Amino acid sequence: MSLDKDTEDKVLAHLKKVWGDGVCRECGKGPQQIQGYVPLALSESPAASMFGGGVLPCIAIVCTVCGSTKLVNLIVAGAIEGPPKNG
Ligand SMILES: [Zn+2]
Repeated sequence: MSLDKDTEDKVLAHLKKVWGDGVCRECGKGPQQIQGYVPLALSESPAASMFGGGVLPCIAIVCTVCGSTKLVNLIVAGAIEGPPKNG
């Protein structure tokens, strides 16, 4: 999978700032690699998880040793612009 280089660079810079050396918290090893984008669907009801709700733009980070997978929000990471805030 080929990711947008600019977005990937922004995510990597963010992770370096907040995660430091990038060692996996689960196994204490790593490295962890960006795998792809994940539109995480939200719902106000568990029974209606297929309908409505918003989507969190995320990126999947996978530890290459233990397989632990983390989702990082692309807006919080500063990789993409969020929707305009109301009020
Ligand atoms: Zn790990």
